[in-house]
Amino acid sequence: MRYAATRREREEETSLLAARLMMPKPQWYSMYNTGYKNYPCDKCERKFGRKSHFLLHHRTVHENRKDFACDKCQRKFGQKVNLLVHQKITVTRQLDASQQRTWPPPPIAT
Ligand SMILES: [Zn+2]
Ligand SMILES: [Zn+2]
Repeated sequence: MRYAATRREREEETSLLAARLMMPKPQWYSMYNTGYKNYPCDKCERKFGRKSHFLLHHRTVHENRKDFACDKCQRKFGQKVNLLVHQKITVTRQLDASQQRTWPPPPIAT
C-alpha cells in the first residue's frame, strides 16, 4: 500500500511538472530567453537578461540556497514556483486520500 502511494505521488509530481512546462509561456519567459543577456554567470555558461534572474540562478544553482520553506512540512525549495507546485501537489494528495477512505468499498454481505 505504502509503495503504491509513493509511486502515485511521483506520477502526480511528474505530470504536474510536465503540465507546467507545457503551459503558455508567460511574458517573463520570453524576456528571459530573448533579448540582451547582459548578465553572464561566472560559474557556468549561462547568461541572463535580467540581474534578478541571474541572482536567482546563482543562489539556487551555485549556492544551493533554499529560501522557500513549506509551512506544512519541512521541505525547502530554491524557487517560489517549486514551493507552490509542491503545495498544490500536497493539497491534491490530501483530497485524494480523504476520497480513498471509502475505497475499496466494503464487501457486500451475502
Ligand atoms: Zn551559473
Ligand atoms: Zn509541504
